[in-house]
Amino acid sequence: MATTLEGTILRGESFDPAEGRVVVEDGEIAAVEETATDSTDIVLPAFVNAHTHIGDSIAKEAGGGLSLDELVAPPDGLKHRLLRQASREEKVRAMARSLQFMEDSGTAAFLEFREGGVEGVDAIRDALADRRIDPVIFGRESAAAMRAADGFGASGARDGEFGDLREACREAGKPFAIHAGERDPHDLTPAMDLDPAFLIHVVHPRDEHLDRIENEQLPVVVCPRSNLVTDVGVAPIRELVERTTVALGTDNVMLNSPSMFREMEFAAKLADVSATEVLRMATHNGAELAGKEYGLIEEGRPAKLLTLDGDSDNLAGAEDPVRAVVRRAGEGDVKGVML
Ligand SMILES: [Zn+2]
Repeated sequence: MATTLEGTILRGESFDPAEGRVVVEDGEIAAVEETATDSTDIVLPAFVNAHTHIGDSIAKEAGGGLSLDELVAPPDGLKHRLLRQASREEKVRAMARSLQFMEDSGTAAFLEFREGGVEGVDAIRDALADRRIDPVIFGRESAAAMRAADGFGASGARDGEFGDLREACREAGKPFAIHAGERDPHDLTPAMDLDPAFLIHVVHPRDEHLDRIENEQLPVVVCPRSNLVTDVGVAPIRELVERTTVALGTDNVMLNSPSMFREMEFAAKLADVSATEVLRMATHNGAELAGKEYGLIEEGRPAKLLTLDGDSDNLAGAEDPVRAVVRRAGEGDVKGVML
């Protein structure tokens, strides 16, 4: 059974808008055809959210005014205390609600740092039952959590730990990812010495760090809204984009809605990067980190697609569809999500 989506298609690597249709068969993009159409819809690849902590969905907007350490530092940051207090059922239900919101707002996959060891990994798998979104789960706190998950997510290399867990990932053939350069530059070199699959944040790189990121083609996930909330600064997104693959993440649900629309808008308005580059960060680049083939509208790729109402009160009359999607669109403009 073929399904057809019509309108302005943001196709290929360039996301160049073209009037036409996308033909989907058996979950795959069978054809992308340029043709005249009456539809005012905008069709784009579904998003990949490259960094989340969905587990703290129980603590939305808790801890206003606290510092980064007071909020999220293990073991006694506010987030960890609230997670300990909540029942498993409460946590699973709260995660399921966030996952539903992510699907409804066009997110096809997410790369999750999951607190709580093996139990935490089991809990998010329960929350994912009946969901269509693809998870890539990075367990935390133990090698057992990594083995139960798809990889290991490290808090940061500040104290020179994680060597053993890095080795355990290598033995298990699973990726090791790590926060780095969030508050200052000092944990960037130790993090890179661990040969991670990608770095998260990189707000404070020095030239030597940028050179090494480029030489090693080490991908970076930036989370601009999170960095604003925790008041650590703004990542040099322009410099990073010029050197490596940069993806976009919404970070803690405690601090920010897991909306890729909002993250794109902030990235586009904070950094000197094109709307096309930001859309690529939110789709194809995240998909690459997730090991997924989607994130682009091209024949033969999985059909993970998002349709927006280009004639919504919010978007009607937009001159540049890519800029409108990145800088202006929101959940209210979503007409359909094909996952
Ligand atoms: Zn994080």
